[in-house]
Amino acid sequence: MKDAATSTSQVSLLQQKLYSARQAMEEMSDAQNEKLQTLMQFIGQLSLACKGQNLELDNKLAKLRHKLASFSQVEDSLAALNEADVILKQQYARVMLQLEDSRQSLSNMVRQIQRVESLPSKLKLEISYFKKELTKPFHTYWDYIPQVEKVANFYDEILKEQLNFGEKFEILPRHRQSAHELAQLLSEIEFKKEQRDQITQIKKSLTEHFELDTLLDAYQVVLGLLLDNIAKEKTASQEFLFVLNNALSNVQDVVTESYSHSVKSFQVSKQLNRDINVEVDNVGDAVIEFEDIDELKAQITNHLASLRKSLGRKELLENREQAQLKQSVETLRQELKELGKETESYKERLFEQQKLNLLDSLTQLPNRSALEERMDIEYRNYQRTSQPLWVAVADIDHFKTINDSFGHSTGDKTLQVIAMALKNALRESEFVARYGGEEFVLLLPNIAESDIQPLLNRVREKVKSIPFKFKNQRITVTVSIGAAQVIDNELINETFDRADAALYKAKNESRDRVIIDF
Ligand code: GH3
Ligand code: MG
Ligand code: MG
Repeated sequence: MKDAATSTSQVSLLQQKLYSARQAMEEMSDAQNEKLQTLMQFIGQLSLACKGQNLELDNKLAKLRHKLASFSQVEDSLAALNEADVILKQQYARVMLQLEDSRQSLSNMVRQIQRVESLPSKLKLEISYFKKELTKPFHTYWDYIPQVEKVANFYDEILKEQLNFGEKFEILPRHRQSAHELAQLLSEIEFKKEQRDQITQIKKSLTEHFELDTLLDAYQVVLGLLLDNIAKEKTASQEFLFVLNNALSNVQDVVTESYSHSVKSFQVSKQLNRDINVEVDNVGDAVIEFEDIDELKAQITNHLASLRKSLGRKELLENREQAQLKQSVETLRQELKELGKETESYKERLFEQQKLNLLDSLTQLPNRSALEERMDIEYRNYQRTSQPLWVAVADIDHFKTINDSFGHSTGDKTLQVIAMALKNALRESEFVARYGGEEFVLLLPNIAESDIQPLLNRVREKVKSIPFKFKNQRITVTVSIGAAQVIDNELINETFDRADAALYKAKNESRDRVIIDF
């Protein structure tokens, strides 16, 4: 009985333990289910994030989400999970291929961009770095998207560049030539003081890298300034002619007036003389016919009174005439003074204008002012580049003889022909000016020491070969030339002096020769 009671209590203990164990197991299962539920929910959410890549995958994932939401056993959803897993793997491979394709297209786009000419250098550098970066494969879309953004930025910058310089045209050799010619022309024309800064600015803008717009603007501004100068000169001439005309008509008035006045005065004076003569005759007659001394006295006193009166009138007339004459002379002097002043100022303006032109009127070569300006330019080039620069002085031999033998106008024509020959013997970059009389100065940049003598001898021979014929006489005209090279820090005027001294030597050594001051 005791044993039975013991067994019963053991069974009940065992039952109790079993119950507790079962309860613990149920609790564990609940907790696990809860965790699994969370995991499934997470998978469901994740699948939503994948939505939109592939329709088949989307359907499978939708089914899976449905199952996961209503599952009681994990096993129920395993099949759907496996299917989705297969498709996911396929999709991954596809995405990788797509990313590779996209990387290739980006590379192609970059290559295209690099073909765009005139990219700013900073952008060029950025693009080449980017191209290197593109050689590494993309692993996700997140790698891809920023690179697309970069390409978009490159396009954006290029577009901005193109839009900013929407009218930017390519600079062709002929544009450069035009700019060079314009700059040269500007050196040959003298502008007014107040215009010079602007001209210097324009010249500068034409020597550096320039846009077509700069060139067009330069032409426009220069034309404007020239037209302005011409208009001013025209007005000045017109003003002068007007003043001259006025002055002349004033003089004419004064002369006419004093002439008619003197005609009138002459008539009055003649009448007065006649009156005086009559009075004198009367006095004479009275003396001859006198009988009574008192009567004679009275008569003579009368005649004398008349005479005094006439003489008084004559004096008055003469005084008035003199005053009028004085007045006329004064007026004329005043007019002439005014005219003189006007002429002076006109002459000044004319001189200014001649300087503006900078061309010698006889030979049409650049004149001395133009030479000075060109010397400055060439000297500055020499200082900047250290390229050789030569100054040569050419003087016509025995030119006075031509004038003396054939006349001054033949001399003038000779000067014109020689000037042309000198100009034609030189290259575009070389320069010749009429320095004065029968002397010319040449500026020769970039000529090697070994080339200067042959070059100048060619120039000398060219003049010598001109077939002059004066009064049916064949005449050979020659020139002597002295030259020197700018050395070290020497001023160009000092070089000029050495060239001039060399010319002097050439003259002393029987002329028709070139002497270089080495
Ligand atoms: P040399 O060989 O020593 O230079 O002799 P030259 O006679 O050429 O030199 P000189 O200096 O004795 O005389 C230069 C002459 O040039 C004198 C002058 O009348 C003349 N002359 C200067 N300018 C002109 C001009 O514009 N027209 C003309 N016809 N003659 C000019
Ligand atoms: Mg001379
Ligand atoms: Mg001479």
